[in-house]
Amino acid sequence: MKILMVIIDGLSDRSLNGTTPLKSANTPNMDFIAKIGINGIMDTINPGIRPGSDTAHLSILGYDPFKFYTGRGPIEACGAGIEVKPGDIAFRVNFGTVKGEGSVFDKIVVDRRAGRIQDKDELIKAINSEVSLDGIEFILGNASGHRAALVFRGKDLSDKITDSDPKREGERVKRVRALDESAEFTARMANEFIEKSHEILDSHPFNLEREKAGLPKANVLLLRGVGKALHIPSFEERYGMRLAVIAGTTLIKGVGRLVKADVIEDDRFTGSKNTDLHLKVKKALEMLETHDFVLLHIKATDEFGHDGDFDGKRKFIEKVDSAIKPFLELDFSEVCFVMLSDHTTPVTARDHTADPVPVVIVFNEVRRDDVKAFNEFESYKGGLCRINGRDLMNILLDLIGKAKKFGA
Ligand code: ZN
Ligand code: ZN
Repeated sequence: MKILMVIIDGLSDRSLNGTTPLKSANTPNMDFIAKIGINGIMDTINPGIRPGSDTAHLSILGYDPFKFYTGRGPIEACGAGIEVKPGDIAFRVNFGTVKGEGSVFDKIVVDRRAGRIQDKDELIKAINSEVSLDGIEFILGNASGHRAALVFRGKDLSDKITDSDPKREGERVKRVRALDESAEFTARMANEFIEKSHEILDSHPFNLEREKAGLPKANVLLLRGVGKALHIPSFEERYGMRLAVIAGTTLIKGVGRLVKADVIEDDRFTGSKNTDLHLKVKKALEMLETHDFVLLHIKATDEFGHDGDFDGKRKFIEKVDSAIKPFLELDFSEVCFVMLSDHTTPVTARDHTADPVPVVIVFNEVRRDDVKAFNEFESYKGGLCRINGRDLMNILLDLIGKAKKFGA
């Protein structure tokens, strides 16, 4: 018995003139799945709690985010391929551009993305080899675009510190501050790291070349989203199932690595609008041969939501619909198929909201309901009614006969 889960990020919407991108899209395959499955809506975390994609995915995988989520830093660091250990402190990092005289903390951030620099390998290598901190180790890892991830490893580290990223251009780099006494050492290390890495970056030949070419120097690392890594039981320990995650987004790959899944990467999985959906579907089918649980993540629906692009979202949903057609050929006596969203990203709100998401489960023995379309206006009429994200894994394990009995 295997499980295939398709998570379409930010798929659902609020009503706009009585409809949504999902409702107005032509989705014969999704609707067929709704017809042969059991449908419902789901509060990924809790009613009224607006989920991030990271907390949402943890919850869907049965990891209570109130217990296991300690900030975006550790997840981004896992996503960047750093082997994060319990006790590590991890940050999200932007390569930015500063100008001015004196210490890095006297300089002004003129570009928070260093001209959206892509090629950062040389700079990251230089920092990892030339910067050293007295008393702790650090690892700087590469992420997409202007982003990176940073891990501090050592004794007595604390995540009770502030960001160095001023979040706005035209302001000075912020000195990292300790929020309590126990974090003073960590704050000092962070400031030392920011200063030393700035010195290396500012005079690095790669940046001098960029300057000559009229491009902004990537000469500062802006730190935010700090979190302390916890011990998290692996998916296999927890469920006795081997998990494969197919995703292009660093954050989702990070969630996968956090629970020790096999994360399937490919340059053609861009985590964006130009991703290769057909290849992702093909990979998911392949992974079903070798894994017990396959999670296929599709990102761009959320991007269209953030962009407020109703038509773009509708059209992309139609592309997803045609790409998932091969899943209809699955043998549902052997594979339990689940399709859902991680949260709602309405084109009107342009951000995540807590509105429950549609969810459908297809499995031979499932009690089919009368729902005939997969959308916000139909799913709630189905047999699953309204569930909580943290219960979904239990529901699936029970369906496929892997749940333990409670009581005699
Ligand atoms: Zn999301
Ligand atoms: Zn989003």
